[in-house]
Amino acid sequence: METNNSKVLLIYTGGTIGMIKDYQTGALRAFEFDNLYKRIPELSHLDCEISVHSFEKVIDSSDMNPQHWIEIAEVIEREYNHYDGFVVLHGSDTMSYSASALSFMLQGLTKPVIFTGSQLPIGDLRTDAKENLITSIQLAALKENGELVIQEVGLYFEYKLYRGNRTTKINAEHFQAFASLNYPLLVESGVHLKVMKENLLPRKQKQHLEVWKDFETNVAIIKMFPGITAPILNGIFNIPNLKGVVLETYGSGNAPTDAWFVESLQSAIHKGIYIVNVTQCSGGSVMMGKYEASEALKKMGVIDGKDLTTESAITKLMLLLKKNISHKLFKIKFEENIAGEI
Ligand code: ASP
Repeated sequence: METNNSKVLLIYTGGTIGMIKDYQTGALRAFEFDNLYKRIPELSHLDCEISVHSFEKVIDSSDMNPQHWIEIAEVIEREYNHYDGFVVLHGSDTMSYSASALSFMLQGLTKPVIFTGSQLPIGDLRTDAKENLITSIQLAALKENGELVIQEVGLYFEYKLYRGNRTTKINAEHFQAFASLNYPLLVESGVHLKVMKENLLPRKQKQHLEVWKDFETNVAIIKMFPGITAPILNGIFNIPNLKGVVLETYGSGNAPTDAWFVESLQSAIHKGIYIVNVTQCSGGSVMMGKYEASEALKKMGVIDGKDLTTESAITKLMLLLKKNISHKLFKIKFEENIAGEI
């Protein structure tokens, strides 16, 4: 596998990775990615050409919203034919949401889009930023017999490349900040890059890139907890214009069997609100009907979120709600795989 002659575009959105510490004042300030080679001379050992596109206003990823996802997607759309691969530098806090959103937005993607960030700023002595950045670029440039090896949205962190829409941030302190509990690694980085080809999305013929840019934002995530009450649940379902809800249930998709709970969900569904059942466990899948506690959900037409992460479920819901899909078909379409997320 080779990286020579590849062209990679770095899209810098913000986050810790782009910070350097002023050792005199201790304050963090934004790093000038335009001077990338000067700052990280190791990059010149990579046999590929790197350009940088920076968000005009770099942000902490807590400020990310669908407008920013569109901004990232539009840069990729505009530059798609000029580069072999893309690396998105992003704060780690909401990186899994953005990677999931982009995996659905970039329809027909046949190039790598690698999200990465870091737990420590790039200028910090013990930073994880350099390795994350260098290997992400390498992955975005990776070819075999002239063909790009990765043709999907990935997330690279601490020596591992995951499928982006399978990830969740699981740790606020460890360098190993992400996990993909329902899908194996795509690449492991050690002395060599170990590419697990069998886990990658199958290579496609070059296709036209179509970008989905319409998001429904009248959506909510409800996390079940023992003691949740009817007024709280009904209060959410009565929000004007609410179109869809991701319901984080227990275990394999279980929820209370109390009449008030079942009636509350049933009346929401009658009003036309779509409800997606995902598990609040970090790993495993919803299996509606396995226990009595999920039988009622299955019968009333709750959508089966299978083994989707919450990040994938909410972004997929926001995008599919803007498609012209009839009520009858919506559940079927949602339960189908779009980008390896199920
Ligand atoms: N708060 C930061 C962000 O998500 C943390 C990070 O960059 O990892 O933007």
